[in-house]
Amino acid sequence: MVSISSSSPEVPHLHQICSICGLTKPIEEFYPRPTPEHRYLRHRQCKDCQKAKARRRNAANPEPARQRALEYWRNLDEAARDKRRAYKQLWYAKRAHAAGRTYQPRLNSRKKPVVTVAEREL
Ligand SMILES: [Zn+2]
Repeated sequence: MVSISSSSPEVPHLHQICSICGLTKPIEEFYPRPTPEHRYLRHRQCKDCQKAKARRRNAANPEPARQRALEYWRNLDEAARDKRRAYKQLWYAKRAHAAGRTYQPRLNSRKKPVVTVAEREL
């Protein structure tokens, strides 16, 4: 962890060097890691490297990630689930639209379909 106040001549202000790829990146490219003593600390690995690391870890051992995702979904309230369902359906609709198809919500879906692509006028 490097605090944002650390200033060395070769690293520009509000930039940080990633401990994995070694690139100098703006501070927004590092996830926040606040502690009680230092509210504005950032991780030392950039977001891209952390995402790549998580992808490798989850590909090697997918079950814990699947369980975490299930647990997260179970703990959401109904309004949050509906919001995510709507977002997911919109995402699928956009993808279908981009491929020149019409989006057909699943017939056995437990929730009623939100809107079709035509209704939303993408
Ligand atoms: Zn990096």
